[in-house]
Amino acid sequence: MPATSWWSPRIIPVGLAKQYVYCPVIPWIIQTTGYREPPTPSMETGKLDAAFKESIARRLGLPKPWRIEIELQDGKLGLRGMVDIVAGQSPFKVVEVKRYYRRSGRERHFRAQLMVYALLVSRTLGPVDEAILVLGGKTSVYTVTREDLRSAEQIVEETRRILTREEPPKPFASEAKCNYCWYRRFCPSLM
Ligand code: SF4
Repeated sequence: MPATSWWSPRIIPVGLAKQYVYCPVIPWIIQTTGYREPPTPSMETGKLDAAFKESIARRLGLPKPWRIEIELQDGKLGLRGMVDIVAGQSPFKVVEVKRYYRRSGRERHFRAQLMVYALLVSRTLGPVDEAILVLGGKTSVYTVTREDLRSAEQIVEETRRILTREEPPKPFASEAKCNYCWYRRFCPSLM
């Protein structure tokens, strides 16, 4: 499935930064080949609607108002994304919801993605004090620190830098990750 206008290197989506954290070679492959992983059956069944996300906001007792599936873009940072839930007034709470629990070790890139969302909200709406990750039945609440936001900004900058590289970056990946990776068929690290 060749990529079309999913992003431009000037404004990248949060999902691409998540891919970078999983393995930096993935954004490079997408940019270089124009191919993106098509949705798998588990991705399709993992999709959640706004009513479900609202029920999560209720279950977590989040402060109102709730903004569900809010689209945000910061031109200066060059980042855009749709945040599952932004709750309360400044300081805000940011929530990312996934239908399925991931084994320990697979959560790292979801936590990174969550902090990139927190960065996007802090840059567009105002300060964020908590970021909450809901993976299936498991909820993790993180205090958002300046260090978290700085790291998230670095992830965004690194992801953008990779899109303009001629040479592929070094992978972060393990053999287990590579075995599971849809992009392995295009991967220069395996050739
Ligand atoms: S196959 Fe491995 S090194 Fe290549 S993009 Fe996938 S995870 Fe990264």
